[in-house]
Amino acid sequence: MKKRNIKIAVAKHSGFCSGVRRAYDLASVNSKECDDLYILGKLVHNRDVCHDLKNKGIKEIESLENISEGTVIFTAHGVGPGLYNEASERGQKIIDTTCPKVMKAQRVSKSHSEKGREMIIFGDKKHEEVISIFEWSNGKARVIGSLEEVKKIKLNKKKKYCLIAQTTQNVDEFKKIQRHLAKKMPDFIFFNTICDSTDKRQKEIRKLAACNDAVIIIGGKDSANSRRLFEIAKKINPKSYFIENAQELKLQWLVSVKSALIGAGASTPKWVIEKVVDKVKSL
Ligand code: SF4
Repeated sequence: MKKRNIKIAVAKHSGFCSGVRRAYDLASVNSKECDDLYILGKLVHNRDVCHDLKNKGIKEIESLENISEGTVIFTAHGVGPGLYNEASERGQKIIDTTCPKVMKAQRVSKSHSEKGREMIIFGDKKHEEVISIFEWSNGKARVIGSLEEVKKIKLNKKKKYCLIAQTTQNVDEFKKIQRHLAKKMPDFIFFNTICDSTDKRQKEIRKLAACNDAVIIIGGKDSANSRRLFEIAKKINPKSYFIENAQELKLQWLVSVKSALIGAGASTPKWVIEKVVDKVKSL
């Protein structure tokens, strides 16, 4: 193939966010000091990171029942109050890597449901973070995934409502939901718990996707924030591709492409981004 020069722009807000960086560093440092170190679930939704941690001797478990003792890492997505109690009852030590921003959403969920507000969480029902925020509301919150869903729920004007969001949700959709509820409910408050790191990433992709011939978003297939970046890019630029790592990048996508924007989700490590950049440069 004839060598071409593709102008590559790597989005400034790409790769590990502060919360994931903190969780990864805590896990890595402790892997040097603890022999029986376990992680409940996956530290982040990224296979390369999980593989790296496995190589550091950290074993993934699905339930606290899987181990009798040892130290267990709670991931950046957070867990509900029940798991803190369960670990201490079992005599297991905890390394809590819950992101401080997720903790904020958990605290709001707990305090306002205790004050008698009906909590509405804008998020993905199946996501660990949303499950944890839901559990901090003592299982009373309602989880909705879109404005359409919110329109279908039966609201009671005599009740007090409070809206919060999964930290990686779409800011524009959150604002639409907030405006809708504010119009309908006399006693309504909201907390925008969407992380500014997510917001900055989305804004940057929105701004740059149209100025480049192609967009490559790197992230784990189960990574909610990476997938959302891809959805945003795809709406603006049809030549947008979602890959987990350099192996998945097909060079034929870049035929006749003169400029490419590379963006990455909050759980994508730097070393994976660099390999993708190198592969594009190999053109
Ligand atoms: S995206 Fe934001 S909330 Fe989520 S782990 Fe990263 S810093 Fe924390």
